[in-house]
Amino acid sequence: MNPIDLLLTNAIVLTMDEQMHHYEPGAVAVKGDRIAAAGLEKDLRKQFDAQEIIDCGGAVLMPGFVNAHTHVPMTLLRGLADDLRLDVWLMGYMMPVERKFVSPDFVRLGTFLACAEMIRSGVTCFADMYYFEEDIAKATAEAGMRAVCSQTVLKFPTPDAQSFEESLAAAREFIQRWKGHPLIVPSVAPHAPYTCTEEILRATAELAVEFDVPLHTHLAETALEVENMRRDQGMPVIPYVKKQGLLDAKVLAAHCVHIDEGEMRSLLHAQAGVAHNPSSNLKLASGIAPV
Ligand SMILES: [Zn+2]
Repeated sequence: MNPIDLLLTNAIVLTMDEQMHHYEPGAVAVKGDRIAAAGLEKDLRKQFDAQEIIDCGGAVLMPGFVNAHTHVPMTLLRGLADDLRLDVWLMGYMMPVERKFVSPDFVRLGTFLACAEMIRSGVTCFADMYYFEEDIAKATAEAGMRAVCSQTVLKFPTPDAQSFEESLAAAREFIQRWKGHPLIVPSVAPHAPYTCTEEILRATAELAVEFDVPLHTHLAETALEVENMRRDQGMPVIPYVKKQGLLDAKVLAAHCVHIDEGEMRSLLHAQAGVAHNPSSNLKLASGIAPV
């Protein structure tokens, strides 16, 4: 018999593998920090000698959910400003409050709260974008969760940088220190086309390509963003960011509420990921993404 640390029994095991195998009553064998096997309970009981057995009481046992777009410390800003459109909410309320209150301590506390809430909801991994991202990464690893942690870069002074050069340098150092961590994938986040200059979009894309890490951003969130882009640049959002080299990186684009078929094809061609955020889009009345 194979020695293992833990056997989870009496579960409805959903593997979510390519064949969508499920086992009932199923079991999962764990050795160290790895899953050694998943299968029918009667088979695994014969194969493995477990130090500890946990009876799951017939519950569903499945891979954790992934929250594809978060600003985890903002759990502490909940309920601060509602019923506003994005630009008023972001520039008029969030950014000024963040510049005044957001600190390493703030993000650490907010991350712990968010991690506790996510763990209770079955989320084990998330893609975050905020300030003092290294402190978020530390708190996340301490909570035992996995995350893509993206250091924000934008053209205004932020809680953790006076200039974009400063936040870009911080992003580079953060990526260098954390690349290869077992739980955290470090990354860079040019906040959005309307809060970044062309230079910032280019520099962050180059940084992500240089270190082969993801690039996390917000694209085409509101109709106003597209309208302004068309007026100022003569094109919609996706062609504009493509022109700045953004799609050369492994892009995770939040929202993409207001994009057309051609833009969808560009994103597909670049193998960009899109994070669909219906709750946020409804809260800010941004629209409904064409998914
Ligand atoms: Zn966001």
